[in-house]
Amino acid sequence: MSDLATHNIMYLQGVGPKRAETLKKELRIVSYEDLLYHFPYKYVDRSRFYTIGEITGDMPYIQLKGQVTSLKTVGEGRGKRMVGTFNDGTGIIELVWFKGIKYIKGQIKPDETYILFGKPSRFNNTINVVHPELEKEPNGKGSFIAGLQPFYNTTEKMKSSYLTSRAIFKLVQNVFQSYTSVIPETLPAHITGQLKLMKLNQALRTIHMPPNSEELQKASFRLKFEELFYIQLNILRLRNQRTYNLKGHIFSRVGDFFNQFYSQNLPFELTNAQKRVIKEIRKDMGSGHQMNRLLQGDVGSGKTLVALMVMLIAIDNKYQTCLMAPTEILATQHFETISEMLKGIDVNIGLLTGSTKKAARNQLHADLQSGKLNILIGTHALIEDNVQFNNLGLVVIDEQHRFGVAQRARLWKKNLSPPHVLVMTATPIPRTLAMTTYGDLDVSIIDELPPGRKPIQTSHVYHKKRLGVNKFVKEQIEAGRQVYAVYPLIEESEKMDFKNLTDGYEYIQEVYPNYNVSMVHGKMKPAEKDAAMQEFASGKSQILVSTTVIEVGVNVPNASVMIIESAERFGLSQLHQLRGRVGRGADQSYCILMTGYKLSNETRKRMEIMTQTNDGFEIAEADMKLRGPGDLEGTQQSGLPFELKIANLGKDSRILHMARNVAQDVLKNDPLLEKQDNAILKRQLKRLAQQKMNWAMIS
Ligand code: ADP
Ligand code: MG
Repeated sequence: MSDLATHNIMYLQGVGPKRAETLKKELRIVSYEDLLYHFPYKYVDRSRFYTIGEITGDMPYIQLKGQVTSLKTVGEGRGKRMVGTFNDGTGIIELVWFKGIKYIKGQIKPDETYILFGKPSRFNNTINVVHPELEKEPNGKGSFIAGLQPFYNTTEKMKSSYLTSRAIFKLVQNVFQSYTSVIPETLPAHITGQLKLMKLNQALRTIHMPPNSEELQKASFRLKFEELFYIQLNILRLRNQRTYNLKGHIFSRVGDFFNQFYSQNLPFELTNAQKRVIKEIRKDMGSGHQMNRLLQGDVGSGKTLVALMVMLIAIDNKYQTCLMAPTEILATQHFETISEMLKGIDVNIGLLTGSTKKAARNQLHADLQSGKLNILIGTHALIEDNVQFNNLGLVVIDEQHRFGVAQRARLWKKNLSPPHVLVMTATPIPRTLAMTTYGDLDVSIIDELPPGRKPIQTSHVYHKKRLGVNKFVKEQIEAGRQVYAVYPLIEESEKMDFKNLTDGYEYIQEVYPNYNVSMVHGKMKPAEKDAAMQEFASGKSQILVSTTVIEVGVNVPNASVMIIESAERFGLSQLHQLRGRVGRGADQSYCILMTGYKLSNETRKRMEIMTQTNDGFEIAEADMKLRGPGDLEGTQQSGLPFELKIANLGKDSRILHMARNVAQDVLKNDPLLEKQDNAILKRQLKRLAQQKMNWAMIS
């Protein structure tokens, strides 16, 4: 193992106790190794020199060679600054400093030739560079970089201790100067050989000091591969262990409950996709191994029905089952839909949420323990310790993205041998992300909507066209439809949001005086929320003004228009989720995205994607490309098994697939990693897990 990890950064030349503290706090850098794994986020080609004659105000950066011909301090107090001129023989530009004036003045010598680097801008018809980097023309030594200059992420706190990108680069160079041994390899020779990967020793040097872009490419490939490979190896190994070790309840038969429901209560034909996933799930539950399956299906694809039917199979096999939903609104709605669907069938269903009264709660607990209750539906009140089942065989979790891995694990423990777990999500997770975040789950996909659904028509409308929208909404309500008007989430401190929502509520009441308007938001008491939802669901009110509390699951098929206010404040996936509340009935549905006229390019792009496609998978991929995987809704909570330092799930899917294949091959030949060849893998996995734990304890 590399002893880079045991060298404390504090003792590196140029660090010391104060900077060490900052590095630890801001970037979790404690050892030499941590620093070397703080990779540059971009590189700038410094092999190119410009002449002043060529410069325009909008270049991202320039590099010049010349002399500083004058320096003077001007202004007073806060307006104080130092202004200099820089001459390269072809012309003159201006240099400006606001900070560190005294120090810089002392450093700059009149007759010296400097390399200048910085971002030019045009001010009063002269080109200037604010806070340029100036360096003496190198005479062989020094930190000047002739090729690609790395740029490192820093924070404001770091900058105030002068830990700039440049300073970090200097520290990296110091590490390489003081640590002269070869950095030990972390991948086995059979892998580096087979894929012709750059060795770690060289890759770490190259990633910080690339001589050219070809070498940089190779180094970055090696490091990305390694990162993704260990994630895959870890996930696949866990999954193997589970299938080898965990016995599952065997649901061998389909019995009366299922059959009675299928032949008498099912109001429509199942779609082929629904049939297929039910088969996949049945097969899992009959296999003798514990099932851990992710059921993905776009909004409206009919996952609830699939859940219900597999729950009936559990009951047919004399097991209890539960369905957990992320919000009270949704749990209540599931309870109502499922009770309705099971009419005439002798199954006991209970509802448990945070607002279930004490007496009812006690009764539920008793019925669960005696085995009288067959299906328990609820919020995460279900995972509390005092909820005990008689014989829990299947757990269904709806809208997984609201739950973390840890909560999933708590449900496992509700029975002596863990129940089968079916996780349902409408967030279409891009394949690459699914392979890392949910790589330990098997995946079933409902890729077909029930027949007769018309694609939702989405348009992007500016505020000034609001009157047209109002007119359209009136026509729809006259035709018997209902309408959602959605406002951004109300956060604790965001008085503005609440104002938007209540203003919106008043505005809508004014514009539509002849209709009933209901309102729900997250700060209401559960009973109030329920009452408002009930008004809307029953058709008593025509318009529901709400925040994103209706984002998941809510099902009112007669609602066919959704207006999303300040649509620019929502991410793509969230817009798609919201939009999924309409388009659930037979009527043509509409989604209207309201924004102001001034929008960033990225926002404009988001609106465009929404108007062009209804396909959740396409939207998820686009979202990941626009925002990067770290920001995808839900992924923070579920958490990647390891933090990604260099690979990017949006861009590196080819490397990810390769890494997964190699990991699969390795485990096929050596499931427990016992061969001498693979000793390095076992060691490294252990180390990564340890690292993660250490950080979890510190932070
Ligand atoms: P989601 O997958 O978003 O949870 P739901 O389960 O809420 O979707 O189903 C959406 C609507 O489609 C419900 O009204 C449901 O009754 C209906 N539905 C489900 N399956 C079918 C089917 N095979 N044919 C027609 N309608 C269906
Ligand atoms: Mg649902």
